Amino acid sequence: MMHGISFDIEEHFQVAAFDCVARRRHWNTQESRVERNTQLILDVLDQRGIKATMFVLGWVAERNKALVKRIVDAGHELASHGYAHELITGQSPLDFREDVSRAKKILEDIGGKPVLGYRAPTFSITNETGWALPILVEEGYRYDSSIVPIVHDYYGIPGANPNIHTIKTNSGSIVEVPPSTCKLAGITIPIAGGGYFRLFPYSFLKRLWRRVEAQGHPLIIYLHPWELDPGQPRMRGSFLSQFRYYLNLDKVHGRLTQLLQDFSFGPIHSLLPE
Ligand SMILES: [Zn+2]
Repeated sequence: MMHGISFDIEEHFQVAAFDCVARRRHWNTQESRVERNTQLILDVLDQRGIKATMFVLGWVAERNKALVKRIVDAGHELASHGYAHELITGQSPLDFREDVSRAKKILEDIGGKPVLGYRAPTFSITNETGWALPILVEEGYRYDSSIVPIVHDYYGIPGANPNIHTIKTNSGSIVEVPPSTCKLAGITIPIAGGGYFRLFPYSFLKRLWRRVEAQGHPLIIYLHPWELDPGQPRMRGSFLSQFRYYLNLDKVHGRLTQLLQDFSFGPIHSLLPE
């Protein structure tokens, strides 16, 4: 069974939990590590001949055009992570439209192909930001991968449909591709990647992934380039944020390699309904 694998291509200093106006002002003077870290991912994928979806931040694409071209030339799907990595929950509909249309244009100009997919920074399409979906349709996106059906402190829509499904909006339809979750003792647990990929033991995750697969649903997995970079400079933040973002970074490369051996993966667009 074919599953979806995706990477949110952003710099290590753009993580939302450490975000603040003061830090944003220094984005341009920070050491860029995204090219090197993304190349590690491209190499791992290439070794197994796997194509993935890369949700690239517009801000990163503008500054790393050669990297974006390499992604497209290697046959991966180029998708959008928005432009400035601002949580939708902190944006007006007008700001959001400007952000997603700017990112799409930059990516399409560099990649030379239509960009179909969008993933919000920190999965920030929630019950309060449902207005984002018709805007995505109007801006030409065909699918979204931002709605996580869990209870979390700053994202998630508890009880949302956990499988790939079409959502009708006033502006037309969009396919929702939720990052994977699994029900365990009545609780919905995120098993799609990121912090959970580093926190839970691999064998535990593998059991849950197999369960989702046995139910006939493709997995939707995500990781970030900075998660393969144990040497990145650490940012100051709350204890919880430090724990979430810096735990087990040294294990990700090995786990990703194992994951790609244990399951079959392709880009998200190949899983969309006709
Ligand atoms: Zn992100």
